[in-house]
Parts: sequence; C-alpha cells; structure tokens
Amino acid sequence: MKVSARFVTSAAAPADFPPSLLPELAVVGRSNVGKSTLLNALVGHAGLARTSRTPGRTRLLNWFEIDGKFHLVDLPGYGYAEVNKDMKDSWRPLIETYLGKREALAGVLLLIDIRRGVQEEELDFIPWLAEKALPVVVALTKADKLPKHKRTLEVMKAKKDLGLKRDPVAVSAQSGEGVAQVWQGLAKILEKK
Ligand code: GDP
Repeated sequence: MKVSARFVTSAAAPADFPPSLLPELAVVGRSNVGKSTLLNALVGHAGLARTSRTPGRTRLLNWFEIDGKFHLVDLPGYGYAEVNKDMKDSWRPLIETYLGKREALAGVLLLIDIRRGVQEEELDFIPWLAEKALPVVVALTKADKLPKHKRTLEVMKAKKDLGLKRDPVAVSAQSGEGVAQVWQGLAKILEKK
C-alpha cells in the first residue's frame, strides 16, 4: 500500500493539541515496542517517525496526516522502567485526556511486542477503550523474531488474554508481514467513523 504521509505537529500538553480537522487513529504501546519503526513501515517512509535509541525519550504526541484523509497520532510509549515518577504521573493524564476527550478520535492501534505478550497495562487498557466505545486493532510487533508456529500461538494467546473478538495481527516492520492487514483493520474503523 502506497500512502502519502506528512508530519503535522507535536504536542506535550492538551493545550497544544491541534484542532480536530480530520478523523484520528491513535497508535499506542509500551516503550520499545517498535512503534516508530512500524509507523514508518505503515507509511513506507523511513524516518518519518523517529525511532528512539533511548526508549521512553519521546514524550510528545505526534500527528501525521495520511493521504490528506486522516491523522495517525503517535502517542508516547508507556511502561518504561527508567522513567521517573514525575513522568509516570504526567503520562497518564495526558494520554487519558487525549483518548478520553478527543472528538476526532476514531479508534486505536494497540501494539504489543509478540515476545513479551499481554501485560498489566494492556489488560487495563482494553476494557477502558470498550467503555469509551473506541474500536481497537491489536498488532503483535516484531513477529519476525518468532518462528511461524510460535507466532500463531502468541496471536491466540493475546486474543484470549484480552478477550478480543478479532485475531490480533502479527506484524513485522522488518519483513512487512501483517502491514497490509493492519491497514485493513484501520480502514474498517475509519469507515465507521
Ligand atoms: P518505539 O520505542 O516503540 O518507537 O520502538 P522503535 O521503533 O524505536 O524500535 C525499538 C527496537 O525494536 C529497535 O531496536 C528496532 O530496530 C526494533 N524493531 C522494531 N520493529 C521491529 C521488527 O519488526 N522486527 C525486529 N526484528 N525488530 C524491530
């Protein structure tokens, strides 16, 4: 899939959020899950989203306009062990304000490292999204790091752990596996918005 992508703006606080001019899809995941790399693979544009050599460094929300039709919003990663308490305290309200109150928000792409599997944050997050009636696509990243039969097992396990109706997508930014499927899931969300 060929798309055109353009960086729009960053925000560190709700006061800096841009006006909601297009439907938005938020991309969320633990630090180092491969979010920046996957964003670049989704848009076929190396270097669009900066990959973080120091995990947890990127504390901003970043808006990218895709094909002039919608925004992908890259949310700061959570769960990085080395962030200090102040950062943890500021992360939650910022993200909850965005996800809980953003009118343009159509749905969420939740990324989970296929080798780490579902953890506490994701277990809390899925019901929270359901409560807000926000549809979610779950993608298990770095699928290339597991042999095929193990990928399938992890997909089934994550589906069960999270109580999902649809299978999570095993995705690899490296091989491109699953990238088209992620787009299909996101397109369905946008159709309904
Ligand atoms: P972020 O912190 O979630 O934005 O994660 P990054 O995109 O910076 O990636 C974290 C690390 O995982 C980097 O070392 C990437 O090279 C690696 N990585 C990301 N995606 C993949 C993938 O699909 N396959 C493999 N093997 N490594 C990946």
